[in-house]
Amino acid sequence: MTGSSPDNDIHLASGIRAPSAVPVDDAVLPFEVASLDLRGRLTRMGPALDDILTKHDYPAPVGKLLGEAIVLTTLLGSSLKFDGRFILQTQTDGPVSFLVVDFQAPDRLRAYARYDEARLPEAKDSGGLLGTGHLAMTIDQGPEMSRYQGLVALTGGSLEEAAHEYFLRSEQIPTRVRLAVGEEWSGGKRRWRAGGLLTQFLPKAPERARQPDLHPGDVPEGVVLHEIEEDEAWVEGQSLVATVEDVELIDPDLSGERLLFRLFHERGVRVFKELPLQAKCSCSRDAVAGMLKSFTPQDRADMVKDDKVIVTCEFCSSVYQFTPHEAGVAEN
Ligand SMILES: [Zn+2]
Repeated sequence: MTGSSPDNDIHLASGIRAPSAVPVDDAVLPFEVASLDLRGRLTRMGPALDDILTKHDYPAPVGKLLGEAIVLTTLLGSSLKFDGRFILQTQTDGPVSFLVVDFQAPDRLRAYARYDEARLPEAKDSGGLLGTGHLAMTIDQGPEMSRYQGLVALTGGSLEEAAHEYFLRSEQIPTRVRLAVGEEWSGGKRRWRAGGLLTQFLPKAPERARQPDLHPGDVPEGVVLHEIEEDEAWVEGQSLVATVEDVELIDPDLSGERLLFRLFHERGVRVFKELPLQAKCSCSRDAVAGMLKSFTPQDRADMVKDDKVIVTCEFCSSVYQFTPHEAGVAEN
């Protein structure tokens, strides 16, 4: 899921051109800074994100948090080469107790969150909204392939911090992730926008990617911790990435190419073909009917209200209505 080469998609294989000034929303732009052994992806989202968040009419803090999770999912899931699925979920004890983002390669996104409105004011930031629990990332390549699952503990920190923790412990790839979500006024209406940047240090010599040791917890007295100095290229890469501001990641008038050029122009940056994203749920009347069939007769009977069975898709809020007969409820 990480560090995969976008070499098959070289867009600017020959020559150098000025960065495009045309902003492209709802797309992931892979890039490379070869002189620093950096590879990364930049996500910019507008209408697709607004579509997902607006359908649910989430309170602003919930929309922002779910937006961050969506952008993180695009940064991680867009490297999938197969026709698979990348699912990011959190399960925590905070005001937002559950969120899920489902990315279906190559471009389909859907997401929703569960939250306790009364508890929202108690959280100061994304970490506080989540609370304590875990973040799970699942790659599903279909019934014949084994599922991959990565887990990270959430302990009151942000999704960015959880992503760093994941790459440090599980993938051991030096990685920086930035996520930004905001609202802008456009056409007399507030609209959600977001941006994200994932940058990884992938030198040919793996020893250059060694990172400082994880803190081992309680260390017996007299034990000296082994210090590893980070590679100079990665130190520089991190300092360049650290200059990116939330407003730049979200800015609808700043193109992704211009933003990458702004960050890395001294070192030379090469971009690859962008990968479009769309908000699209995979639910359908047939799929819902199939799900109803899998329930027990009693469960189906319990769903009848006013002589109707109504099922609402949690992802996209689509409402499917069936007669008891259509829903497979036995007639009395
Ligand atoms: Zn749906």
